[in-house]
Amino acid sequence: MPPDCEHKTTQMIARRDGIDYVECLDCREIFEAEDLEPVTVEDED
Ligand SMILES: [Zn+2]
Repeated sequence: MPPDCEHKTTQMIARRDGIDYVECLDCREIFEAEDLEPVTVEDED
């Protein structure tokens, strides 16, 4: 598995409970699509 894969080439493979699952066509890793987004969301009222 490429250690520096940036997962730029992905395809959606499934959706479950409102979560999109994508597969990286480069390293074949499967993960949640949300994991690709920068984690900057904070819940603040
Ligand atoms: Zn990848």
